[in-house]
Amino acid sequence: MDKTTFTAARMDRLTPYVAGEQPKDKQYIKLNTNENPYPPSPSIKDAILSELENLYLYPDPDSFKLREAIASDCGVSPEYVFCGNGSDEVLSFVFYAFFGDNRLNDRPNAEPMLFPDITYSFYPVYAAFYNILYKTIPLDENFRIIPADYSRPSSGVIFPNPNAPTSVCLEYNEIRELLEYHKERVVAVDEAYIAFGGESMVKYIDKYPNLLIIRTLSKSHSLAGMRVGFAVGQPHLISALKRVKDSFNSYPVDRIAAAAAVAAITDKEYFNKTTAKIINTRERFIENIKEIGFSVSDSKANFVFISHKTVKADILKAKLTDSGILVRHFDKPRINNHLRVTIGTDKDMDYVSEVLRKFAQ
Ligand code: PMP
Repeated sequence: MDKTTFTAARMDRLTPYVAGEQPKDKQYIKLNTNENPYPPSPSIKDAILSELENLYLYPDPDSFKLREAIASDCGVSPEYVFCGNGSDEVLSFVFYAFFGDNRLNDRPNAEPMLFPDITYSFYPVYAAFYNILYKTIPLDENFRIIPADYSRPSSGVIFPNPNAPTSVCLEYNEIRELLEYHKERVVAVDEAYIAFGGESMVKYIDKYPNLLIIRTLSKSHSLAGMRVGFAVGQPHLISALKRVKDSFNSYPVDRIAAAAAVAAITDKEYFNKTTAKIINTRERFIENIKEIGFSVSDSKANFVFISHKTVKADILKAKLTDSGILVRHFDKPRINNHLRVTIGTDKDMDYVSEVLRKFAQ
């Protein structure tokens, strides 16, 4: 009997996302999934402990306290905020709610949604999952998004700012061009890495009814293990996301995650300290590796995208792995001679520089 016939035909469309490896053979310096190298704010401990006795109750389906904390941090009111189980889940709801099948034109589904050719590799996965037509727009040779290249009919636009894995950031004036051209479509800005030096679009949220910002606490607040992400947009966009959520899972953010997230967001001093340290380490690391023949794109993220003038990226990746350092190499056109290296502690990055110096002379 052919057991593959148990699956629905729609399964054939899926090409799952592959996350960075997590080998168990030995202890590595893990610089391949853009995690924060510092532990979360110490204040989450008491917040988690005091929530334990409430675990017999379902969490608030609308995560009100968490939305309040996020709203206050972003300078908006809570009805501008939607929370989910990691920003990956929020992104999947964004794809479902806004892209592909718009009703604004006479030919629904006729225009593709747009995102860069080199970008977060979950986007094409969600597009396939929901059967959304998409078109990728090439970055220029310096890995920059060129807004004018997006001036074509679409069912919506998404891109990370800073972009991943390139680390390059767009400025407000450039994003404004996208928002204005696509004013009848949603332009989603995935600000997963905005804490590390870029300018957030949050302050323009009232100006653009088509602007949706997606963020995560995974990187900026050292909570990758907790799974909390959110979107900020005008209430009509937020209620569309809520409608998707309530058709999928009423309680995506559990009580422990919500309590920890509120504590982490509220501890701004700790957040400022850890992000400043990461930015500082990034700049030092960039300086060090430029000296040994690396080119590095202008990073506003907690990772850098590097390539060496003579030694190939796959060779360097193997040498780094042998030396106990994990980084990410994408075997894809245009970027297969690059490595994405997450910024760890100063000690981690000094060791990475030392290993690179040995093999990339
Ligand atoms: N967006 C981008 C651009 C990312 O790189 C990631 C992390 N892989 C995410 C979203 C998802 O983050 P999380 O689900 O941990 O919130």
